[in-house]
Amino acid sequence: MWEEIPPGTSAHSQAEVFSLAVESLNCKECGASYELGAAFFCESCFGPLEVRYDHSGLDAVELKRKIQAGSRGIWRYADFLPFAEGERPGDPLEPGMTPLVKADRLAERLGLGEVWVKNDAANPTHSFKDRVVAVAVAKAKELGFETVACASTGNLANAVAAHAAAAGLDSYVFVPSDLEEQKLLATGVYGTKLVGIRGNYDDVNRLCTELAAERPWAFVNVNLRAYYAEGSKTLAYETIEQLGWTLPDRIVGPIASGSMFTKLGRGISEWLEIGLVEGELPIFCGAQAEGCSPVATAFADGSDVCKPQKPDTIAKSLAIGDPADGPYALDLARSTAGAIESVDDDEIRAGIRLLAETTGIFTETAGGVTVGVLAKLAEQGAIDPGERVVVYITGEGLKTLDAVRDSFQMHEIDPTLESFEREFAPAQVA
Ligand SMILES: *Cc1c(COP(=O)(O)O)cnc(C)c1O
Ligand SMILES: [Zn+2]
Repeated sequence: MWEEIPPGTSAHSQAEVFSLAVESLNCKECGASYELGAAFFCESCFGPLEVRYDHSGLDAVELKRKIQAGSRGIWRYADFLPFAEGERPGDPLEPGMTPLVKADRLAERLGLGEVWVKNDAANPTHSFKDRVVAVAVAKAKELGFETVACASTGNLANAVAAHAAAAGLDSYVFVPSDLEEQKLLATGVYGTKLVGIRGNYDDVNRLCTELAAERPWAFVNVNLRAYYAEGSKTLAYETIEQLGWTLPDRIVGPIASGSMFTKLGRGISEWLEIGLVEGELPIFCGAQAEGCSPVATAFADGSDVCKPQKPDTIAKSLAIGDPADGPYALDLARSTAGAIESVDDDEIRAGIRLLAETTGIFTETAGGVTVGVLAKLAEQGAIDPGERVVVYITGEGLKTLDAVRDSFQMHEIDPTLESFEREFAPAQVA
């Protein structure tokens, strides 16, 4: 029997037995099957690999009960994560169960009916990357790695450094050297080896791919990418649970490499297949910054390939010019009658302000992109007022302070009534 764990208890105060559902790594292109190791890509066609599960023996009612009695974060979804049978130790940085808030004032401003904001800044290192890193670091430990590493646009750096510290693993974190200062500080503090590359993310990623072949390290988004990506499915599961085991009509989420966006779709498909939720896939709308919009451009051109771009945008966390999962993101948007749109830097700043002023949530530039695209779709009349829309806010505003620095003025006064009244007019006498 699965016992209820009181809220706030850290995961796995009891030992939990994990499912046997995880089967193999399979090539997304040719289907070739590989053992569950640290593999980069398909040896026959160089396609990306994905974890395959066998959920055929699972009973939806039993599974739902087990999930609800599980821990208060992503490990409640362990049956859908890529781990072999066995007991797992507690995770002191367990991410997940972030707030899903009904944003009526935002909906009203945009002329929409029902809008929900999934605030994934409310994770241990303040971005959705805690989900993917928690899974990848657990897998790295299972596979016997002693050092973890990553190629990052910022948030991944924060998460890898923190989760490695908590797990007692060595870490190397590679970033473009011109990253936001807040993201560099929120990485270095954990005692990682922080390496700033004079180049953009795509240069960083190329170097890391070379290093991964040279060093016995677990690069969470290179040789462990197939496992890492699975962590994003938990965002979909949580949304379904928080909506009372129902689906939204439309999803609006950011696209960098396209991994998170694609896995939101995969997570929902899995639960539809098993019968944990009923209905059909929501309409998937992707959001990119105009200054780095290879996927939005391919969508607009009706193309299946994302032509690489040189990023130039304030949304640095989304600045991937050559997105690995771009084609799959295009597929998902097209097959659900969705869209992939982009917004410029001013629209990103406006998106940050709009979200802050209507919900009290302060997002980083990536969230400005997402809200900016939501506003654009609303303006186009693309969203029916009867729809239930979920918007994914994936990172914290305090990490990209430059984006709002000149957007308001402080009233500076002397500590006297006179000085206050000179600035704001005297009080009315009754
Ligand atoms: C990494 C990241 C994403 C999504 O990245 P994908 O590579 O598309 O999975 C979205 N928002 C923020 C803030 C991120 O750091
Ligand atoms: Zn292949």
